[in-house]
Amino acid sequence: MPTELLFLRDAYLREVAATVAALDAPNRRVALVETVFYATGGGQPHDTGTLAGLPVEEVRKEGDVVWHTLGGDGPLPAVGDVVHAEIDWERRHELMRTHTALHVLCGVIWNEYGRAVTGGNMEPLGGRMDFEFDPLPDGFAQHVSEAVNAEIAANRPIEVSFLPRRQALADDALIRTKVNLIPESVQEIRVVDIVGLDRQADGGTHVARTGEIGRFEIVKTESKGKGNKRVRIALS
Ligand SMILES: [Zn+2]
Repeated sequence: MPTELLFLRDAYLREVAATVAALDAPNRRVALVETVFYATGGGQPHDTGTLAGLPVEEVRKEGDVVWHTLGGDGPLPAVGDVVHAEIDWERRHELMRTHTALHVLCGVIWNEYGRAVTGGNMEPLGGRMDFEFDPLPDGFAQHVSEAVNAEIAANRPIEVSFLPRRQALADDALIRTKVNLIPESVQEIRVVDIVGLDRQADGGTHVARTGEIGRFEIVKTESKGKGNKRVRIALS
């Protein structure tokens, strides 16, 4: 049975009373009918927190099922039990701010330079993204930092919607961010829209408005070969 991913519709949900759907007892792993825990993917690390009073040490998605690996030495819940699952909210919210900042960075770089992103990764309050530059333009870090902070100050709303695949494939912004690479089995595409700035097909967690991101800074730029430049960012 596929796990229902509650954060896809409400990234601000911190806890849930969830039913245990399956157990992998030798590995201390639990699957729930519905979860608030984000599993590692799309450059965003998994959530931490507690499940049935035990620490959640890893969260991994295998097919449609999210497995929570539990630490501690307390007994595992049983299939059918209703358990309390709660994420470490402070850490998750930092990841939501960081993830959203990386979208703002993508939007600004596309608008200013017409360059696409080729990859990225994040941790709470820090991350990196690679872009198709060769070389980086003069004054890049300062100009982009100012433009990103202006978008944060503009406090743009961030909207999440679900589009039929056919409609998503006809959307220029989504084509640019490679919506066509999503497996054909996925017929409903989740779209994260920083209104007026950046629109992407995306399964991660984001804040509701750009003003929630905080202060943005480019801390380093590096060359990762021809046509690939890495931008490291930090939030405060
Ligand atoms: Zn995202």
